[in-house]
Amino acid sequence: MTKILIGQSVAFGASADELTHETRGAIAIGDDGLILFRGPLSLLPRAFEMSPHEDFGEALLMAGFVDAHIHFPQYRMLAAAAKDLLDWLSRYTFPEEAKYADAAHAADAAEIFLANLFRYGTTSALAFCSSHKTCAEALFNAAHKRNMALIAGKTLMDRNAIPAVQDTVEQGALDTLALHTAFHGKGRLRHAVTPRFAITSTEAQLQMAGEVLQECKGALMQTHLSESAGEIAWIKSLFPNEMDYTAVYERFGLVTDHSLFAHGIHLSARELGALNEAGSTVVHCPTSNTFLGSGLMEMDGRNHIGLATDVGGGTSYSMLQTMGETYKVQMLNGRKLKAAELFFMATLGNAQRLRIDAETGSLTVGKFADIIVLDPAATPVLEARHALSNSIEDVLFALALLGDDRSVKATYVAGEKVHSCL
Ligand SMILES: [Zn+2]
Repeated sequence: MTKILIGQSVAFGASADELTHETRGAIAIGDDGLILFRGPLSLLPRAFEMSPHEDFGEALLMAGFVDAHIHFPQYRMLAAAAKDLLDWLSRYTFPEEAKYADAAHAADAAEIFLANLFRYGTTSALAFCSSHKTCAEALFNAAHKRNMALIAGKTLMDRNAIPAVQDTVEQGALDTLALHTAFHGKGRLRHAVTPRFAITSTEAQLQMAGEVLQECKGALMQTHLSESAGEIAWIKSLFPNEMDYTAVYERFGLVTDHSLFAHGIHLSARELGALNEAGSTVVHCPTSNTFLGSGLMEMDGRNHIGLATDVGGGTSYSMLQTMGETYKVQMLNGRKLKAAELFFMATLGNAQRLRIDAETGSLTVGKFADIIVLDPAATPVLEARHALSNSIEDVLFALALLGDDRSVKATYVAGEKVHSCL
């Protein structure tokens, strides 16, 4: 049955500058989970007048957040203090990811992980799994049950890690191809070929990843690039003949227009040129970068930028907090972002980078109703600050800097309510 959501609707067009705000807006959602109407409540077609409706008053109806880089098997290991990235990986991350060889553990974790995403208003994500096929299967199955647009892949890593999280070239290829066949295009699921980074894959495995990427039609490629100084130095010693880090991925056919590189902080002009020319995306993960002391990513010079939590290196599931930290990091870089730019990046911008913008990322008729309800006065501090806001830009700015899961009153995936704290 068609249902109607009523509230202040905030919707983006093709860019951050095209923002439509209705103080009394309505969204009609069909049986199939698609948006049938979005506009002022006064213009709601008569055919929908008798449909059940939920009135959220002054709360904001917006497109759900899209997280462009997150690690499912790190769902509970946030705030693990380490010296730097490499110390963090070996001390905490690999032992935790080793547990995902167990299908029952992975299935339980997937339920908790998705519940966390929805509680924080994230309705789509590009996720790393562990190196175990069971881990990716658990996440895909849990997301499919909720008709969620989720993209994931099993991590490829055949060196420089504990044996329990290593695969081989052959097993990595078999598992990746099997996952693509089983899940890519199943409902709203998509697949991503997922080498962790060039430190943990041999040249033979990177070569395989490039070949498998070509075979997996429509798949994305996700990996890490140029996050920390120690990592870059290690890459230099592992690949002494390459001119830089990006060149390693280029050599194996992994720098493409459907490739997403997390972090990309310390890139040379040559590397930026290569990434831009290929149409690749650099994914900014500010809470992770400051937590691990990796550096402050500049937005300048990067044509395509995604925004992400990078849980568990990142310290919050919240895309609101991620926007707030993006604002601060860019202020340190001498660039002042508008709230509308940040919200655009976290929704339609990321959906475009993940190639799921035809079905999600904005409140557009015909797309899936992946919708969140944000309360701009959810906490005493927000409430007091909200009283000073005199524009929708100001309301959004306060939410980005002060909001978190307490601001997310409800989350809908394909029209179904998957989280509510009302
Ligand atoms: Zn990461």
